[in-house]
This record gives sequence, C-alpha cells and structure tokens, in this order.
Amino acid sequence: MGDNLGMTTDLSQPLAWNNRFARLGENFSTRLQSQALPEPYWISRNQAVARELGLEADWFASQDALQAFVGNSVLSGSQPLASVYSGHQFGQWAGQLGDGRAILLGELDTPSGGQEVQLKGAGKTPYSRMGDGRAVLRSSIREYLCSEAMHGLGIPTTRALCLTGSDAKVLREDIETAAVVTRTAPSFIRFGHFEHFSYNDRHVELKALADFVIDSFYLACRDAANPYAALLEAVSERTAHLMAAWQSVGFCHGVMNTDNMSILGLTIDYGPFQFLDAFDPTHICNHSDTHGRYAYNKQPNIGYWNLFCLGQALLPLIGEQELALAALEPYKAIFPAALGGKMLAKLGLTQATPDTNALIESTFKLLADNKVDYTIFWRRLCAFTPQSGHEPLRDLFFDRESFNAWALHYSELLTHESIGLEVDSRAILMLKSNPKYVLRNHLGEEAIRAAKMKDYSKIRTLLDTLQAPFDDHADHDALAGFPPEWASGIEISCSS
Ligand code: AMP
Ligand code: MG
Repeated sequence: MGDNLGMTTDLSQPLAWNNRFARLGENFSTRLQSQALPEPYWISRNQAVARELGLEADWFASQDALQAFVGNSVLSGSQPLASVYSGHQFGQWAGQLGDGRAILLGELDTPSGGQEVQLKGAGKTPYSRMGDGRAVLRSSIREYLCSEAMHGLGIPTTRALCLTGSDAKVLREDIETAAVVTRTAPSFIRFGHFEHFSYNDRHVELKALADFVIDSFYLACRDAANPYAALLEAVSERTAHLMAAWQSVGFCHGVMNTDNMSILGLTIDYGPFQFLDAFDPTHICNHSDTHGRYAYNKQPNIGYWNLFCLGQALLPLIGEQELALAALEPYKAIFPAALGGKMLAKLGLTQATPDTNALIESTFKLLADNKVDYTIFWRRLCAFTPQSGHEPLRDLFFDRESFNAWALHYSELLTHESIGLEVDSRAILMLKSNPKYVLRNHLGEEAIRAAKMKDYSKIRTLLDTLQAPFDDHADHDALAGFPPEWASGIEISCSS
C-alpha cells in the first residue's frame, strides 16, 4: 500500500521465518507490505529479546535491521500480513476491527518455542478504518517500556524487541512524530478473532482457528471429551492468573475490550495503562473511560465478562451452553485463590488461613483509606519485623492508630508462622514479591519528554532498571521515589 519500498533485505544471518498464521488462509488475514517511513532511526534495542530470538548482535545493530523493523524492507522469507478480528469495545459489539496498525512479519523458532514478530505503527492496512496506521512516539515508548517492565515483574506479556522512529509527522490532538514498536509473542490471537468468525456464522474458520490454537498452545485440550470447552476453561484459567498478577502489582490496563484480550493470557496492547501511585481501588487510568468500566477494581470482573464473550463465540463448537458455563465456572475460584497467594507472598506469609485472608482485606482497606503509595508501601514492608519500630512504614499513613492496630495484627500472624520467625527467609520472599520499580506514569512521561529532544538515555535507564525491578539498582533510587505533584495531572487517553 502507498509508498512501499518493497525491497527484500539480504542477510548475513538469514532468519528462518515460519508463516503458520499466514497458512491459515486468506479468510484470516491480508498479505501486505508496510508503508515506508522516511529517514528512520533507532530509539532503543532490547538485547534480551534479541538473544531469545537468536539475532546476531552485529546484524541487529545494522541498517538492514533498522530498515526491516521500521517496516521499510521485507526480510527474506517473511510474509507480512494484517489479521482480521472483531470485538466488544466498552461493553458494546463493535463489529469488524482487525490489525489496523499492526503488521505480522511471521514467526521465528527459538529454543523456548515459536515467537511471532509484529510491527506496531507500520502503516495502513485494510482494517485501519479511519486511522492512519501509525503510532506516535509517546505511546510507542510506553508500550516498549511497559512490556519489558511486566516481563521483569514475571507477568505474562507480549515482549518488545526494539523501538524505531522517524521525524514523519503524525496528526493526533497535536502534531507528533511516528514510531514503530517491534513486538513479539508466541501468538497475537485475541478473543476478538474468535468473535469475528462466530458472529459472522463462519463456523469452518472458527473451528480452524480453535484447532490451530489448541494444537499450537493448548495441546492437553485435544484429549478432553470436548476440546473446545477445555480450551475455554484453559484460557479462563490463564486469564484468572493474569488478573491476579495485575491486581497484585497495582496495574490498570485501561482498555480491556475483547479485542485486547490475548488467547494466551498475555498482557497485550498497552495504551492508557497505569501503575497505581496512591492506592485507590476505583482509579480510572483511561481518560476516555468516562464511566469507569475499566477501573482498577473492575478488572477481574471484566476479565470474566470478556471470557463470557469468548464462551459465546465458541458455543457453535462447544455445542451445549451448560458446558460453556461450566468451563467458565472455575474462574470464580481460581482468581481469588491466585490473588490471595500473591498477596500472602507480598506479606511474607506462607500459610493461608481465615486470619491471613482477613489481614489481606484489612491491608487493602487501610491502604485505600490512607491513599498510601502502593509500590512504596510493599517495598518498605519488606523491612518490617514485629520488634522494629515501623517508622518508615508508619510515616506513609495519616491515620496512625489504624496503622498501629494493623501492625499489631500483622505481627501476631508473623510470629505464628514458622517462616515468620526466620526474618531472613521472609525478607527474601518479600523482596522477590514486592518490586522496587514499576513504570509509573511520570517516569514514562520524563522519558518521552527527553526522547522528543532526541535524548534516549532515560529509555535505556528505565529499560535496564525495569527489567530487574526487584533488584536494588543503587544508582537509580530516584526511579523508586514518590511521584511528583505534576504526575496526577497526566491524562492518557485512547488516542495514540
Ligand atoms: P486499540 O484501542 O489500540 O486496541 O485499537 C482498537 C482498534 O483500532 C484496533 O483494531 C486497532 O488496530 C485500531 N487502531 C488504533 N489506532 C489506529 C491507527 N492509528 N490507525 C489504524 N487503526 C488503528
Ligand atoms: Mg487493540
């Protein structure tokens, strides 16, 4: 489309592309080439993902790689495509959507399995509707950094290989510049892919897609009495764990439409996301979400709502509604159990009891009542012992009496637990469960402001720090501090 350069790059280290998604056929995607961006440049390369993909270091630093990952040339053997999907957006059926600005290059074999490589922001596709197919620098920096931050936190996510840019102008509320994130995942298939074929009564494609997902990623479902119900249950289980992981670190996704839900239970499509600063369960991070549908405390229920849509989409394959409902049922127990397990580890406790459950509840309430900084509270808690004075922790609360009562209860539970007596092993567990660094909005914003002046050093520092968020990084303590006052004024919407 448009100004395609159409060059095929010759590589010193040829990449062996698998084009399995393309082989599903033309009803699933449209082959196309990305649109060229003038005078591209590197913004950041992520060596961790490059190593996982087996990219040769020299080649990854080359002009060939730059041209390929900005979308100006086609790597030999790759069959670029955009896929079609539909979805529910903000609770309403939105009809056909699709990769409006994402282009799949294909799949690379790696020691840990196939990894698809996708360019986000590489130009128009048949699914762009009114959009320009581009992504702006600010949102691309946020996606690039946050996918690696989530991976560092141990949360399932798409990854980011590199970030490229161009001074080509892109019109949003203001005039901005274009960037492309090269992202990877075993698959970019969304709930919305299934909804698309189901709502259009295309059951042959629906079955082909479900069989592809089962055979590629959920092989155990093949042996079940009803493989499609088993698939729904397996996806529900992964989604329940993902929701628990998000809630436990205070992550708000912001746009949990069914087209942004990964069939693999990955965090996907980073838009107006936010890590909570002060703990506010009703926090809405997406400026466009006027009714708070995707507020922090609604996410687990929305996850279930989205799974219900997936269940409806799979119904023609599952056959009986009861089976679909039964497949969704375990979510209701898996999510709280998974969240409880994560919160227990954050508290440095190992045995779930009615008492520890009550402590978790009262912790959330105390944090909300006192609007305590979520990440800093948990990190400071790692140094808590029943004998210590708790000063740095108590300082976070304006209601000191409630804190004292809570600390007494917590101390009692710690002394009841065998591991609670071994301060060192508890601290180790807690330091691995309570990150020091998360990608707060203001950190992203500072990196974006510098990048607009062509200074990419903050992106590098954040990438290095967020990839190991449980470590101390003594040189970068400032990245673990409270947000500045201006952070509460940052408004992030769907426009990106
Ligand atoms: P999102 O809210 O980013 O998940 O996007 C929702 C839908 O709009 C997806 O189908 C995207 O591909 C499409 N879309 C978002 N931004 C653009 C854009 N700038 N150009 C074309 N399509 C877009
Ligand atoms: Mg999306």
